[in-house]
Amino acid sequence: MRNSKKHIVVGITGGIGSGKTTISKYFEEFNIPVYHADKEAKALMNRSKVIKRKLIVLFGEKAYQNNRLNRGFLRQQIFKDKTLLKQINSIVHPKVGSHFQRWLKKQKAPYILKEVAIIFENNLESQYNYIITVVADEDERIKRVIKRDNTSEDAIKSIINNQLSDQEKIEKSNFVVYNNDLEEAKLQAIAIHEQLLTMLK
Ligand code: ATP
Repeated sequence: MRNSKKHIVVGITGGIGSGKTTISKYFEEFNIPVYHADKEAKALMNRSKVIKRKLIVLFGEKAYQNNRLNRGFLRQQIFKDKTLLKQINSIVHPKVGSHFQRWLKKQKAPYILKEVAIIFENNLESQYNYIITVVADEDERIKRVIKRDNTSEDAIKSIINNQLSDQEKIEKSNFVVYNNDLEEAKLQAIAIHEQLLTMLK
């Protein structure tokens, strides 16, 4: 489904710890509205009664603890049975999709950015007018995520191994940000923003 002509939707994606959120923030500084799809998905999993009911059918009452999503329990279940992730996505993604469309209707900027971990893996390219991929060296990404999430190297590596390689993502993207160094990455973000504004004039 291609977006309505009025709104130009630019996807910003990249592997775990590549710096999607960090680079998106630069675009927010340039007054470009950013929809953080993964963050909204997590919020909707706590807020939406429909999602809640469906997740409880799938996982049992343990899916929520004190009315909050029991992320640790869900992670364990997904680890045991990988097909569960697909089932969660099929419950959550349509809701995020309609939430995004409502948000999009209110936007007036020349383009908007949608930060999302997965685009190519699910063949969702056609939902975007342009796609930016953020990449960084794998060692660097692992260090960042260990520091941010207090998680193990093995856990991060297993996520990386389940994601499409940077090379494949780059080939399918319109723009790439190399985010090993923040200052250099910001200059690349500025250049992409200017290029998009020129193209959309
Ligand atoms: P995820 O997919 O895990 O949500 P992400 O791609 O959105 O991650 P960020 O959350 O932006 O990545 O960055 C991961 C961590 O690395 C954050 O703590 C961020 O502050 C840090 N970080 C991002 N870019 C750099 C950089 N160039 N140099 C040092 N630290 C960085």
